[in-house]
Amino acid sequence: MDLHIIRGRLLSFSGEPMGPDEQDKFTYVEDGALVCENGKIAWRGPWESLPEKFKGLDFTDHRPHLIVPGFIDCHIHFPQLQVVGSYAGSLLEWLNTYTFVEEQRYSDADLAAAMASRFLDQLVSHGTTTAVAFGSVHKVSCDALLGEAEKRNMRMIAGKVMMDRNAPEALLDTPQTGYDDTKALLETWTGRGRCEVAITPRFALTSSEEQMEISGALMREFPNAIMQTHLSENHDEIAAVMALYPHCKDYTDVYEQYGLLTDKALFGHTIHVSERETARLAESGAVAVFCPTSNLFLGSGSYDHARLSAAGVRHAIATDIGGGTSWSMLRTLDEGYKIQNCLGNRYHPLRSFYQATLGNARAINRESEVGTLDIGTEADFIVLNVHATSAMALRAERIETLSEELFVLQTMGDDRAVEATYIAGNKAK
Ligand SMILES: [Zn+2]
Repeated sequence: MDLHIIRGRLLSFSGEPMGPDEQDKFTYVEDGALVCENGKIAWRGPWESLPEKFKGLDFTDHRPHLIVPGFIDCHIHFPQLQVVGSYAGSLLEWLNTYTFVEEQRYSDADLAAAMASRFLDQLVSHGTTTAVAFGSVHKVSCDALLGEAEKRNMRMIAGKVMMDRNAPEALLDTPQTGYDDTKALLETWTGRGRCEVAITPRFALTSSEEQMEISGALMREFPNAIMQTHLSENHDEIAAVMALYPHCKDYTDVYEQYGLLTDKALFGHTIHVSERETARLAESGAVAVFCPTSNLFLGSGSYDHARLSAAGVRHAIATDIGGGTSWSMLRTLDEGYKIQNCLGNRYHPLRSFYQATLGNARAINRESEVGTLDIGTEADFIVLNVHATSAMALRAERIETLSEELFVLQTMGDDRAVEATYIAGNKAK
């Protein structure tokens, strides 16, 4: 039996707290114990209440650090790990100049395998234990990523992008090959290890109407699979999409007309959406994915969290590497906070940490598996150190509450603040 006993300060969420007074939405234990058995959390509670059978056994003491569920990144591009920080003014320039060139390299299975290992190393180092990833157009890119995730027993969701127009020839599939490859991935990887496959039309601009129809058909054929794509990131992009789909009311309607607007849909960005689109997103149960560092870097615009929330739209938050500039969900929460603050939306750090853990697990309908420290869930968690750098340690001398600690972690922290990452109960960092 694989048994690990962990001691430390524990924080886990059961709901979305607007602030520290909503104590029914989170659990905090100052001196807590986590017992991991065969990859799952077998017991959690105060150290002094540790069940008799675990007393006296070896344990790992992470005090005074804070243990939280592993971060979940709901939108990241595997073949873009080496285009982060490419100098471009806007989305379409960035895609055409760098990204569509780089992604061509992922037709090579050996390169994809080597990069998959480096990609997962970065996620683990930054405390991200689950991600929803776009591959390249090549099926081998997804086989490589999911193969490496299976080896490490990580919960990973990935899809090969389907794209059959408006990109270099070497990055185009066809409606039929896009369907065949995606279906083969779904049949090979769903439920293997902790892997899953997402149906992934890149975005309406790079898919023909036939490919959009086939994406909808795949969603009906595999009703439990996530569908991921992009929506309303940039004004030029929106204009180009509307020129291709003149029969649609707006960008959201493009996805709706082909059957892609459902509660399994993750829409990256969702920045420039009308009242009508916002209402349809809410009614469908689709998820809008906020990618703050990417939105700032590419000058895309400001995701209005409060407006979408008021309408009832579900949220996720993500790095969007390589349009995003940091692998760190802490950096992502920080930049997200700043964007919302500019819009006049105050966002409490307890809410931010909820979003990066249970909130994102709910967005992918996997809250029974990951996103909390609840008994019976998969033992993916991280250890955060608010004294990780000299500047953080200096600041931390004046911290008095959990909320202050979370806010300093989010404002000043990055991978250096991730003291340890556990995957299925085993220390991976
Ligand atoms: Zn993206």
